[in-house]
Amino acid sequence: MWIQRTPEEVAKWQKSAESEACSHGRMIGGIVWLVVAVCLAGGWFFFLSSGAGIVGEREVTGSFWLRLPIYGLVAAPFAYFVFRYERKKELAKILRRTICPKCDTPAESNTGAACKCGGSFVPSSTMKWVE
Ligand SMILES: [Zn+2]
Repeated sequence: MWIQRTPEEVAKWQKSAESEACSHGRMIGGIVWLVVAVCLAGGWFFFLSSGAGIVGEREVTGSFWLRLPIYGLVAAPFAYFVFRYERKKELAKILRRTICPKCDTPAESNTGAACKCGGSFVPSSTMKWVE
């Protein structure tokens, strides 16, 4: 059954929600960082390879790996921005979660709303499940 959390448990829940949101932001930020860096370095790579005969292919390939870390640095602030944005968005989403303690129905952003079972929704941060 669902029981009320103590204030310490709610604080603990908030901490774990924050770290969950943080790892979500890190994952999205990491993917964005990789994609942006490779696209920037790769775009330059294709630009040079299409300019036939100007540079040897090996040289261009070598430069791609040389440029990747540079574009990685260029993409880093952007990825950090995405990380912060996603972390904030995910945390808000977790905090919006609600639950009907009577029938175990999860929902979002409807604290206090009546459930079809006759119960009412409460923020999931304030409740916990015990056997
Ligand atoms: Zn219900």
